[in-house]
Amino acid sequence: MSTLRFSQRLLGRPPPPRRREFHTVNYAWERLTSTVHRCRLPFLDVTVGLVWGGDGVLVIDTGTTLAEAAAVDADAQLLTGRRVTHVVLTHKHFDHVLGSSAFSGAVIYSAPEVADYLCAGVDELRADALRHGAAADEIDRAIAALRPPDQRVYDAVIDLGGRGVSVSHPGRGHTSADLIVSVPGVDGAAEHAVVFCGDLVEESADPAIDADSDVGAWPDTLDNVLRIGGPDARYVPGHGAVVDARFIENQRSWLLGYRHGDGRVERV
Ligand SMILES: [Zn+2]
Repeated sequence: MSTLRFSQRLLGRPPPPRRREFHTVNYAWERLTSTVHRCRLPFLDVTVGLVWGGDGVLVIDTGTTLAEAAAVDADAQLLTGRRVTHVVLTHKHFDHVLGSSAFSGAVIYSAPEVADYLCAGVDELRADALRHGAAADEIDRAIAALRPPDQRVYDAVIDLGGRGVSVSHPGRGHTSADLIVSVPGVDGAAEHAVVFCGDLVEESADPAIDADSDVGAWPDTLDNVLRIGGPDARYVPGHGAVVDARFIENQRSWLLGYRHGDGRVERV
């Protein structure tokens, strides 16, 4: 026992407090407004959004594995001081949905087609995840834990306590049933509106087009996205850096080029 501890005991003083533990977040969260953040998961650069109000916490998309989602859940609690209460899945692809069951107690929203796919399309989900390099054991754990979304919606307003967040289906595009999440700006606080676009918008690569995409409808769908967010909103893509309305107009033109088959695009 040190002389100091010995003398403290003699004097009846409590020992000094133990060194305080500081918890740090697992991911680098980008602050879009005071109550709207997002991070880019290292695997596939998937965006996860975080929005909170007076008594609710919303996560937008959930990553590929339960480990990723648990790390997001822990970060959300650290950043907001509360448990996640709501989850919105923007579309059906594995890198956006497979972590969803980690948010136990949260109400999960998706389009009806996505809810059906999470039940009937697990073989396809698994194959797609493995094709993109996910670990088989982690995918199997995530699929075994999957639960159907609670709310099958094309449009909804989620009340987070003092702030309403809009969920909407602006039209067909990346898939047949993409949802976007629109967070209005706060009046008087000079905070921009933020729109989480899922994979209807991609910044880090060209838009991902597959058999489930509707390239013909996609440009009009982006018009609707711009109408919902407005010219000054910040638009958060499913993959890549946050963009502005001009970027989305350019992506719309790119998609029109694809539709007209002028040979500028060779994505599968
Ligand atoms: Zn996708």
